[in-house]
Amino acid sequence: MRVRDPGIVAKLAEIRVELRQGTALAGLTSLGIGGTTDLLRIKNHKSLPDLLKLLDANHIPHEFLGGGSNLLVGDGELPWVVLQLVRPEPDVVLDGNFAQVDAAADLGRMITFCAKNNLGGMEGLIGVPGTVGGALRMNAGAYGMQIGSYVREVQLYRAAGRKIEVLRGDQISFEYRHTSFAPDDMMLTVILELPSKPFKVILEGIRICNEKRRSSQPLGQKSAGCIFKNPPGASVGRMIDELGLKGLCVGDARVSDRHANFFVNAGHASARDMLTLISDVRERVQKTYGVSLENEVVVWNA
Ligand SMILES: Cc1cc2nc3c(=O)[nH]c(=O)nc-3n(C[C@H](O)[C@H](O)[C@H](O)COP(=O)(O)OP(=O)(O)OC[C@H]3O[C@@H](n4cnc5c(N)ncnc54)[C@H](O)[C@@H]3O)c2cc1C
Repeated sequence: MRVRDPGIVAKLAEIRVELRQGTALAGLTSLGIGGTTDLLRIKNHKSLPDLLKLLDANHIPHEFLGGGSNLLVGDGELPWVVLQLVRPEPDVVLDGNFAQVDAAADLGRMITFCAKNNLGGMEGLIGVPGTVGGALRMNAGAYGMQIGSYVREVQLYRAAGRKIEVLRGDQISFEYRHTSFAPDDMMLTVILELPSKPFKVILEGIRICNEKRRSSQPLGQKSAGCIFKNPPGASVGRMIDELGLKGLCVGDARVSDRHANFFVNAGHASARDMLTLISDVRERVQKTYGVSLENEVVVWNA
């Protein structure tokens, strides 16, 4: 979708929203898949209520992009614009065991910064790409931990009330790759409470997690991490592997040889290729195991 109306373009500039026309989302997603639309970059959180009012008044639908590492975006000209926060400097401010972090902060850099200040707990998330906002939305987790356990407060824009609000951690429920945020809530900042640990100890935890990832995931290839959520007590990767589906392809979309729940873009895969592969694998798992798989990857399909 293109924002061409000069009145809207002028208003965007006035509220300090940068308009990047005709942005290819393939370049902004870790899968390297996705069509073209206008990207609206938000430099000041306070402009969100005005921006959303402007988009609603002009019937311009939108999606919200973090680091693009858990997304499968449709092909071609997309029927919505994409909003993204611009990362401020600094994006992490420490106060004792509390870290106030901007949602646009890079998750890995935030973890390393806190580690250097002897704050740990998040070692399992090292190697999870994307932003802190995306990690909050998805309740990112790995190796027995999840970000939600450390959340004490979230500042967010709530479309329902059309304003910026603050939620305490105990007002939010964090479950396996699921949170109680409304689908159109936008996370702006978070306060995390992190346990004190010596840097050396955190570094050793990070080294172990990095090693586990390197030995089990196709890190050099374009992916969105796990495609499906694990059903309670079961491993989707194991099921797909047992069905002999590693290496299964639709065009350049391929079930990874290394981790069967990672589907990779081995060249020029389209969203259509990837979606066909996903539904093919889902059907085969359903047929053999009677398990209905839920996507972990977020699909924005036109
Ligand atoms: C190699 C690889 C390994 C991975 N390993 C893991 C893992 O171990 N554990 C794990 O949990 N995930 C993993 N992932 C998936 C992914 O990195 C995480 O889900 C990550 O937290 C997504 O963050 P993002 O900023 O990239 O979000 P995006 O992909 O940009 O967006 C994901 C969803 O979050 C929403 N969103 C993003 N930012 C905000 C915001 N500020 N406010 C509101 N909504 C927002 C988007 O609208 C979208 O619905 C992996 C991915 C890759 C490529």
